[in-house]
Amino acid sequence: EECRKLLTAEIKTFPDWPEKGVNFKDVQSILFNPELALITSHYLKELLPKQGANNFLFNKILCFDARGFLFGFDLAKASKTPMILARKPGKLPGEVITQSFQKEYGLDEIQVQAGLINPGDKVLIHDDLLATGGTAGAAAEIILKCGAEIAGFNFIMDLSFLPGRKVLQKYVDNDKIKAL
Ligand code: 5GP
Repeated sequence: EECRKLLTAEIKTFPDWPEKGVNFKDVQSILFNPELALITSHYLKELLPKQGANNFLFNKILCFDARGFLFGFDLAKASKTPMILARKPGKLPGEVITQSFQKEYGLDEIQVQAGLINPGDKVLIHDDLLATGGTAGAAAEIILKCGAEIAGFNFIMDLSFLPGRKVLQKYVDNDKIKAL
């Protein structure tokens, strides 16, 4: 709650960027404020599924190009969990798995290197911000294609006036979709 208030107060919003009608929340505001970055990192870790002894809740964490990498790496280190990079097309070497998804204006794609996600895995998805849910939903589809399970979703911000949470409820229960 404290963290959410701080974030709401401190994050700079750019109206009508990158498109008219979009109010862009700029993660630069968090990174430029080391105190706020530490608090954000701390509370994001608090949102991680609590690891059971034998019954592990997640064993890999998938993070998005590019702002998802910033705090995603913190989460991977804190949970001693392998980190998987989901990237925009053409950035990853080797064999890749591609998933296209609907953006507000046209189609987009994300890619993950083949072989990183396997049956039996429980993969946690992290990104900076949940808007329409298109991006995170595409990651969920890749995880399912690989025969693995979706452990949950972890975001810094959830734009709750958009349908992202509803979209992701197709994949997991609401209590596994976490945001600060
Ligand atoms: P969605 O696919 O849920 O519509 O959009 C989420 C994706 O777009 C995330 O990867 C996120 O980084 C980016 N995004 C959309 N709107 C914003 C915004 O206002 N601020 C930031 N930082 N990222 C956004």
